[in-house]
Amino acid sequence: MRKHIFNAGPCKLPDSTLENVSKAVLEFGNTGQSILEVSHRSSDFQAVYDEAVALFKEVLGIPEGYSVIFLGGGASMQFCMIPFNFFKKKAAYVNTGTWSTAAIKEAKMWGDVEIVASSEADGFTYYPEFTIPSDVDYMHITSNNTIRGTEIFYDPTSPVPLICDMSSDICSRPVDVSKYAMIYGGCQKNLGPAGVTFVIINNDFLANNVVADRMIPTMLRYKTHVDKESMYNTPPCVNIFGVKETLKWVKAMGGVEAMEKLAIERADMIYNELERSKMFRPVVKEGSRSRMNIPFLLREGYESLEKEFLDFTKSKNIVGIKGHRSVGGFRASTYNACTIEDVKALVAAMQEFEAAHIK
Ligand code: PLP
Repeated sequence: MRKHIFNAGPCKLPDSTLENVSKAVLEFGNTGQSILEVSHRSSDFQAVYDEAVALFKEVLGIPEGYSVIFLGGGASMQFCMIPFNFFKKKAAYVNTGTWSTAAIKEAKMWGDVEIVASSEADGFTYYPEFTIPSDVDYMHITSNNTIRGTEIFYDPTSPVPLICDMSSDICSRPVDVSKYAMIYGGCQKNLGPAGVTFVIINNDFLANNVVADRMIPTMLRYKTHVDKESMYNTPPCVNIFGVKETLKWVKAMGGVEAMEKLAIERADMIYNELERSKMFRPVVKEGSRSRMNIPFLLREGYESLEKEFLDFTKSKNIVGIKGHRSVGGFRASTYNACTIEDVKALVAAMQEFEAAHIK
């Protein structure tokens, strides 16, 4: 029996992705080979790659003048590639938690990093307001904070190139890509299986902003991968196939507008329950509450029931609810493939547990 999966990533994927990847692992089209065996230089795989890129452009409305590439190394590799390629004198970052902190650490190796806003003093429980300085090489934000459960819901206007880590909310709402010099992220939440990273990069930005006199290793240069359309080295083939399948599903479901509607519905159901409950409480302040990752805690007097609730959810076929080790408590990750039925199962479990344990 399939579980109600609330994992933070890797996470629940659409049934059609699982079915079609499984089929392709056994036999990839009429090639007589598995997708695990076929050459990345073959026309059959090239067609998969081209479709993945075309679907991504269509689904997200990526305008002319942008390149899409799929790389290895995770979003974490982007944390170092960004400053390696674009950091000249100074960059600006917003600090919204673990992942932006990791990105900032890499940038600091190259010089002055201006933290234009941070919610650290308040446990990263809200998305801070920020002003983008005009004297920096680029500005970096993390649109959705997977661990802390905060999210920004608009595309900022920036006087300098704007770079965004959209690992955990890509394709969950319409995005004005033209506002960004670069958008990147791990694919393992809304786009497919773990093991592949997406980069959407403005071609003019790339042509004009790479640090001229720096020796950048070939594999760490964006230009290498853009010029070779992700085929400079062997790309993660099966993962790209999974991304193509997931984007096909997003399109068939009604695109990012439909994804946004469902995301709001799922998050509202859980947040309404957290507001109502006498046993569980939300962590994140209103206005910043992520639709993708919802951390929650037991209210005062009930904290000792944490393990019992986790065991109870397991008995209800719910997995992935344990909070991140740095935050504790619980977290429900409700990415695109998470269904209303999954959320109903979670809310029902919370209510049943509350009824059984309320003092
Ligand atoms: N950025 C965000 C927002 C994330 O959620 C994650 C991982 O969950 C990362 C970056 C790191 O991604 P990766 O594990 O692909 O390096």
